[in-house]
Amino acid sequence: MAVPRHKHTRAKVGKSRMHKYIKGISLNVCPKCKKPILSHTVCKNCGHYKGVEAVNVLANLTKKDKKVREQEIKEASKA
Ligand SMILES: [Zn+2]
Repeated sequence: MAVPRHKHTRAKVGKSRMHKYIKGISLNVCPKCKKPILSHTVCKNCGHYKGVEAVNVLANLTKKDKKVREQEIKEASKA
């Protein structure tokens, strides 16, 4: 079995661990509705991916919520 030849000092351990931390997630902006989304995923707000509607988000909403959501998407795509 391999045995370490030299002692690993606290400084060396610290220098190594300095780069091993969790980086914050990077968010992109949905081109359709301008909401922040994870990259390579379907937008949860409008259901679009790469400019094509992948999921019909409005299908399971009530009539009132549907109107509000449609309005939001329209306004965001205009701006
Ligand atoms: Zn979107």
